[in-house]
Amino acid sequence: MAIKRAQRSNEEFCAWILGKSAQVQKKPCLAATKLFVPVQENLDDSCMDTGCGIELLNLCGADGLKLIGSVHSHPTWDAFFSSKDMHMQYSIQQLLPDAVGLVMDQHHEFKTFRLTQKGMREIAKCPLSGFHPHDDADTLYEPVRVIEFKSGQ
Ligand SMILES: [Zn+2]
Ligand SMILES: [Zn+2]
Repeated sequence: MAIKRAQRSNEEFCAWILGKSAQVQKKPCLAATKLFVPVQENLDDSCMDTGCGIELLNLCGADGLKLIGSVHSHPTWDAFFSSKDMHMQYSIQQLLPDAVGLVMDQHHEFKTFRLTQKGMREIAKCPLSGFHPHDDADTLYEPVRVIEFKSGQ
């Protein structure tokens, strides 16, 4: 499987998180129920989803699931949002304001982030791609309290 292969070779992997709206202690939340691993190209500093839009949408529709975010790994770094991650998250959050981005660090710990309103404004204005610096990068995204994971599905 793509994730294991990428981990063995210390490359990044990426996947989409699907889930449903749920209630925890009477508060609305998103429950992640499925990981969808797209066909992907794994490099040591990035990961590209190389296909699959339609496949993903079919999967969402069929099970009544919706896309709630993405996950990718940083095989040799801490968990944070790089400029590329922020641009990626921006394109997801534009469509799905609730979407979150998970990053798995080198110790296989997950952190969950979302762009702040300021982050959404800054990234919208940013014409750059690839890795590049942003002013006040740590104010452009914030940690999100997670959402429950049901593993093994
Ligand atoms: Zn990243
Ligand atoms: Zn940028």
